[in-house]
Amino acid sequence: MREELDFLQPFFLGPAGENDRWLEELIVEFVRDHAFWRRNFRPEDGHRITAAASYRPDFLQAKARTRQALIRLSGELKQSVPIFHPRYVGHMSTDLLIPGLVARILTTLYNPNNVSEEAAPVTLTHELRAGRDLAAMFGFNVDPSVQPCAWGHLTSGGTVANYEALWNFRAVKFYGVALQEGVKRAELATGPVGPLRKELAEYSEWELVNLSIGQTIGLRREVAEAVRERDPTAFPRLRRAVRGERLETLGIQEFFARHPELRPPRVLVAASAHYSWEKGMKVMGLGTAQLVKVAVDDHMRLDPDDLEACLAEAFESRTPVLGVVGVLGTTEFGTIDPIHEMIAARRRWNERGADFFVHVDAAWGGYLASVFRDPDGGFLSPEKIRKGFKYFPSDLVYRAFTSVRHADSVTIDPHKLGFLPYAAGAFVARNREIVDFITQQAAYVFDLGDVEDEVPREQQLRNLGQYILEGSKPGAAAASVAVAHEVLPLHSEGLGRVLRHTIRACEYFYESAREAAGRLEDRVRLIVPFEPDSNLVCLALNRNGNRSLAQMNRFARRVFARMKVDAARPVHEARFIGSYTSLRREGGEDEQCGRILGELGIDPATFVAVPARPDEEADHIFILRHTLMNPFLMDGPGERSYIDLYWDFLEDAIDAALVE
Ligand SMILES: *Cc1c(COP(=O)(O)O)cnc(C)c1O
Repeated sequence: MREELDFLQPFFLGPAGENDRWLEELIVEFVRDHAFWRRNFRPEDGHRITAAASYRPDFLQAKARTRQALIRLSGELKQSVPIFHPRYVGHMSTDLLIPGLVARILTTLYNPNNVSEEAAPVTLTHELRAGRDLAAMFGFNVDPSVQPCAWGHLTSGGTVANYEALWNFRAVKFYGVALQEGVKRAELATGPVGPLRKELAEYSEWELVNLSIGQTIGLRREVAEAVRERDPTAFPRLRRAVRGERLETLGIQEFFARHPELRPPRVLVAASAHYSWEKGMKVMGLGTAQLVKVAVDDHMRLDPDDLEACLAEAFESRTPVLGVVGVLGTTEFGTIDPIHEMIAARRRWNERGADFFVHVDAAWGGYLASVFRDPDGGFLSPEKIRKGFKYFPSDLVYRAFTSVRHADSVTIDPHKLGFLPYAAGAFVARNREIVDFITQQAAYVFDLGDVEDEVPREQQLRNLGQYILEGSKPGAAAASVAVAHEVLPLHSEGLGRVLRHTIRACEYFYESAREAAGRLEDRVRLIVPFEPDSNLVCLALNRNGNRSLAQMNRFARRVFARMKVDAARPVHEARFIGSYTSLRREGGEDEQCGRILGELGIDPATFVAVPARPDEEADHIFILRHTLMNPFLMDGPGERSYIDLYWDFLEDAIDAALVE
């Protein structure tokens, strides 16, 4: 344990700001270095702000006002939530990696804009490299000489990366239909093309919306080649025609009006998925009514049987499925969906002529993949990984992580388990050719063979703004992620070592929860509702003898009041800061609810869909939620760790709530 803690120490500012001198040294060094760089650009121009200027009264006054405003800000910030401290076990944030933090500050002085190469020749390289690091961590191919080759880029966060998945998927899903329509309009023949080796005109629309991403990419290329071979002059005509038929051109309403056989597509997500999927369906105009919530099992993981039922329901009614989203670490419970089951389901449906794209929302748990990576490449065996843990990884978790590479795309947040500053999310796609379907360039639909062949893909992607949802974006975020990955590579001996330590803390928390439950047995029932799959552990509690859910929730809230961020109480008075979540009746969580209520001794009849009074807390189960990602949780003042101290605190909080 000591050795692991020693390993971590250089990388963080520390709970008591222990590494402040080192951080200061780095910042001062690179601020000076930056000023020298400015001075050396056209030194013959001399200075615009003279040394004498700084003695002018107006100059002094401006400095004073600036300083005053900053002093005020710095004072205000003291009311911030101390997320850096091991006593903070609330949301998904903690101390930052010094290499990433300094890279961010240092690069901000240069203020590059990663929207395009012109504005950011240096940090664009960092961004594409960071994307490649992430893709390689999941096991995607990143060698451009082998197809398909993955790519990734940064976003402002997981939310935007999730939107991007929908945007990419939609562009590919309905491309084949537009292509067919364009070929018809341009009165062209293609000969046998695509996986079914027939004239494009002979494909049914159902067949076209059930091609995989790779097949649609191949079809597009084959059609282009066939047309060009037969009549090179027809090519521009075809390009225009196809563009005119695309959903992105016509809008959803007109596109589906022209294709009455096609139904609007559904997106399937686990009931436990992040609310950004609902937002995404609204933003994309796809509608939340088309977002199908797949039930979760007893452990809050997507239920493969219900997934199968939802897929069957969609495909039997001839409704295209845009994508199925699995969560690698749910935001509320940290649980991990069986990604391998989603991949297997796709294989089965493919045999029956139906396809859907697979996205893994790994905003939270994605970086844990580094624990699974051998520094020499490839995945470590489960036996090797398990040497460092008591429970982790379960068979399901191991299979889920090693199956991400079969998904079409992934969301991952460097600003969560990457220990980096906001705003840094990322979108990774298994096949970078997908960008051809979304590029904004004038020749955007169908320019295979003219522009694209001449400009290598690597070079094209440096025009980043063409291929992503966002526009101007901080190159400093890219430098921060790339430098952090360089110092702590994404394998078991790099960042994986830091994360291993946090998972051990999580296991210790889980085990000590049972001991705490034993100590509290005479007063309350304390349970861990779901076995932890990642660095998140929840607790539910009920006072002995109580059978009413509303009363249980009120009691748990009173306990929680002692660990919540409260404007009325100075933050430094908090012994611990946590967070909470709820299990609700709606959302397909009924079965887990029944089991949990049973374990807590609650009468299920007191759990209602609509409470009698609006203030009656009878429609949900209130749960304490602990994000255990701080690197120093297993350390602590004296002999005992912060986790031991947490149980002391919780016991006191429970005792106080009991007498309240
Ligand atoms: C945090 C999270 C998101 C949203 O990411 P932001 O970075 O907050 O935009 C999406 N999905 C999951 C599973 C998350 O944990």
